[in-house]
Amino acid sequence: MSKIAIAIHGGAGTILRSTMTPELESEYRSGLDNALNVGWEVLSRGGGSLDAVEVTVSALEDFPLFNAGRGSVFTHEGKNEMDASIMDGKTNRAGAIAFVRNVKNPIRLARLVMEKTPHILLAAEGANEFAKQMGVESAPDEYFFTDHRWQQLQDAIKDGQIRLDHADDPKSQIPNPKSLGTVGAVACDGQGNLAAATSTGGMTNKKFGRVGDTALIGSGTYADNGSCAVSCTGHGEYFMIGVTAYDVAARMKYKGLDLKKAANETLERLTEIGGDGGFIAVDARGTIVLPFNCEGMYRGYRTEDSQVVEIYRD
Ligand code: ASP
Repeated sequence: MSKIAIAIHGGAGTILRSTMTPELESEYRSGLDNALNVGWEVLSRGGGSLDAVEVTVSALEDFPLFNAGRGSVFTHEGKNEMDASIMDGKTNRAGAIAFVRNVKNPIRLARLVMEKTPHILLAAEGANEFAKQMGVESAPDEYFFTDHRWQQLQDAIKDGQIRLDHADDPKSQIPNPKSLGTVGAVACDGQGNLAAATSTGGMTNKKFGRVGDTALIGSGTYADNGSCAVSCTGHGEYFMIGVTAYDVAARMKYKGLDLKKAANETLERLTEIGGDGGFIAVDARGTIVLPFNCEGMYRGYRTEDSQVVEIYRD
């Protein structure tokens, strides 16, 4: 039997104590705790890591403060278009969706792509059509409406910017994210099987068909029982250049590094190429790492010994 373990994130960026109220902080913490408990429940009953990451990410998608599912940011047209991906470390099968609308839990749809189609990534109208055919739960536009996201869209339109969640660098061609809200989970079950899942609402005011790392296997999500399971959050363009999720696994596989060393090297590489953000990862022994190179990352993990939820760097 392997040691069961689960880790989650709710995005990374400029997350400072000085800009947080105690009420908001406790809301974030309870959202993270609740998601960890939902996943732990599956693992502790002897369930598989794939089910654990799916229900955990679904819980984070249902939580309105994170930029995924219900809390997704608005496109220029005032819609919510979501990306998600999932990977099974035992079979190395994967599924992903990009640009889906009105799907309550995009991560469920990503899993259905993996299990019910010969494909890996479905996008836009085709992905929405697939959602209808699969009968996945849909939700009306109002379900995805949150005041703070709407205000972000109005600000971004006023400034003529396409922004990652809370980006505030109007002069940069690639916007510089200051606080990101994508969600993700990685897990190791009692059989030593690994899985990873990631989900996002993408960028506020997006209108050019931009797809980020969250929809891309190898960049935002990766899992292989022989190395590790990884879920990323941060400035997606750099995670795509660095193939960041796979980079951790490759360093373990080809350099023979343990998870901690591999994760450190990957974070160094991400920083070198200019990317802000972080990732969570677990190996088949239940070792967890949650490295990031920005001010904070909503994150947490649960093992047999402890349950930890953290937000800031210190
Ligand atoms: N990686 C995501 C993207 O670039 C954003 C995030 O992690 O918040 O779409």
